[in-house]
Amino acid sequence: METRKNRKFLGVKFNCCQVYTRIYMNRNGTHYEGGCPRCGRLLRVRVDPINGVNTRFLESV
Ligand SMILES: [Zn+2]
Repeated sequence: METRKNRKFLGVKFNCCQVYTRIYMNRNGTHYEGGCPRCGRLLRVRVDPINGVNTRFLESV
């Protein structure tokens, strides 16, 4: 069972399709991972073990 309450997410804008969505932290807590809801393009954002991810929002390139 996953603990939904601790599921961290990052707001991301996918410039490929000009859409906003959320990507969620993976099980290991090492990356935020998610895909563009329109074209399925995958995005992984590494989580710094010390600082984490400083921003709550970012744009894909
Ligand atoms: Zn897309």
